[in-house]
Amino acid sequence: MKALIALMAGDGIGPEVTAEAVRCLNVVARQHGHDFAFEAAPVGAIAIETTGSPLPEPTLALAKRCDAILFGAIGTPKYADPTLKVRPEQGLLKLRQELGLYANLRPVTCFPSVYDVSPLKPELLAGVDIMVIRELTGGIYFGEKTRTETSATDICTYTVAEVERIVRLGATLARARRGKLCSVDKANVLETSRLWRSVVQPIMKDEFPDVALEHMYIDAAAMHLLRRPSDFDVVITENMFGDILTDEASMLPGSLGLCPSASLGTGTRGLYEPIHGSAPDIAGRGIANPYATILSAAMLLRHSLGLESEARQIEAAVASALADGVRTADLKPTGQPANTREAGDAVVARL
Ligand code: NAD
Repeated sequence: MKALIALMAGDGIGPEVTAEAVRCLNVVARQHGHDFAFEAAPVGAIAIETTGSPLPEPTLALAKRCDAILFGAIGTPKYADPTLKVRPEQGLLKLRQELGLYANLRPVTCFPSVYDVSPLKPELLAGVDIMVIRELTGGIYFGEKTRTETSATDICTYTVAEVERIVRLGATLARARRGKLCSVDKANVLETSRLWRSVVQPIMKDEFPDVALEHMYIDAAAMHLLRRPSDFDVVITENMFGDILTDEASMLPGSLGLCPSASLGTGTRGLYEPIHGSAPDIAGRGIANPYATILSAAMLLRHSLGLESEARQIEAAVASALADGVRTADLKPTGQPANTREAGDAVVARL
């Protein structure tokens, strides 16, 4: 297969971790006879420094003509002030908007060899394999906002069409997994949640009768995610609930350095990135954990290029490196931690 992969390494540890993911993709391409071309483009603080914009026009143009985007992380302390007019984060937000990336997929897998890193007991982590799908472009974050001296409002709006596409995506993924879909809302209080539920029900009944559907209130979901995480398969939820729930879920594996993500739209083009940020506190030292970015590259193979067995090959290689004790500093190694390159080497060797 021939594919153009846009490489947006960004700031901080972004270039360090994406370099290891590219090595893995190149190995897989060589082994399976694929022709992957990588084209790099600046985004985030580095793009502001060099062009004045967090998403320069050529970067956006590349995003629109590539098959998939491998994204590192953006942000530096220099741009931490939220009142600044031009900020690195705007680059990612605009990219999502321009590409219509409405679904954020965050798989939560707990690797048995690093259960000790998780704040949860090992017996709760066994069998955890969750796919959380967060609606990314609607809801309260994008609604009208008002502010007076003494009050403020944030409007939350959802349309039927916005809910429908998330339900169908979630149910399709659930069908290929363990056949369970949990729809999280607050239908006892919110009108948008009642609409959400009214859209979920007929689609599941008519189009996905083979997928088991459960509705859960957000407060209960937050609790059950810690009490019985292995019961969840695919979870769908709206933007703000998903924002909170995915961060909670990311604590199950024990390190941000183990959590990949994908942002998808209507076509096959997607944006793949680790869920962590640019980690300025460790940037430039070559000690960041590259596994989350390598696992994001596996998601890229699966969701944008349809290369399921190659994706599994990368995931198995990461699991094997962890099982053999190749741990970066964030994974509490007992001896000398592996650095970024050594962790990448370990995955490449197992590929
Ligand atoms: P962060 O995820 O960058 O770091 C949080 C902590 O986790 C730090 O101690 C860091 O060293 C550690 N960490 C993160 N990734 C790691 C890895 N791969 N290996 C080892 N340790 C790792 O979050 P933050 O400190 O809140 O934010 C730093 C910057 O990143 C900010 O500018 C923020 O806006 C930005 N950010 C960007 C994204 C993105 O690009 N999607 C996401 C979150 C934060």
